[in-house]
Amino acid sequence: MNIHLLRNGCFTIAKNFLVYGKYRTEIYKAALKPMLVMTRKEKILVDTGIGELPPHYGKRHQLERSEDQTMQAQLSGFGLKPEDITIVINTHLHFDHCGRNRLFRKARFYVQADELRYAYRPDRFQKAAYLRDFFDVDVDYESVRGRYRITDDVTILPTPGHSIGHQSVIVKKDAGNLVYCGDAAPLRENLAKRNIPGVLYRADEALQSIDRLRTISNASYIFSHDNEQRSL
Ligand SMILES: [Zn+2]
Repeated sequence: MNIHLLRNGCFTIAKNFLVYGKYRTEIYKAALKPMLVMTRKEKILVDTGIGELPPHYGKRHQLERSEDQTMQAQLSGFGLKPEDITIVINTHLHFDHCGRNRLFRKARFYVQADELRYAYRPDRFQKAAYLRDFFDVDVDYESVRGRYRITDDVTILPTPGHSIGHQSVIVKKDAGNLVYCGDAAPLRENLAKRNIPGVLYRADEALQSIDRLRTISNASYIFSHDNEQRSL
């Protein structure tokens, strides 16, 4: 099995969106790092980054993505085209995690049922996080409920709180577990200090999800937006 973090550029975000109650005015350059898992049978992509943002998002979120950091360029670095991807797992459907879903026409997508339903009708306080253009595309969504085994080595773990149906991904690797936290812990400090994210559907669930991630044995963690962690 081969596992890689893609370098899909970064975007600016108020740091208090990533950590609740801290960093009141700081702007953070959030990394975008979808994960590619290549097994003998499957080519699995976890999250698809940001698509073309509508103009009014530009004030809050400046996207930096060079030519060699596009999804296509990153995949071609591993000899792959989008149509080679067989499975996509979206941790959730906020715009910075499903922006390129439309590229993966041949893949089966795994999303929590609650997340897929809610994305079409988010509450007012989560509305800006969902861009229908990004997720409402002609691809094959398989909605799942709860924990779900994708392959012998790849399992989805529900970690709601940041969004209603957020999920993390556990990949068995050697004797340990590689854990793609997604936005249940976008930065290392979310997990290390049990600081919940600033964007929340439910705060209590967000903390339970952090604690669930912390109980995984022999774990090494990938934090979805931590710009100090660039590779495995
Ligand atoms: Zn995010």
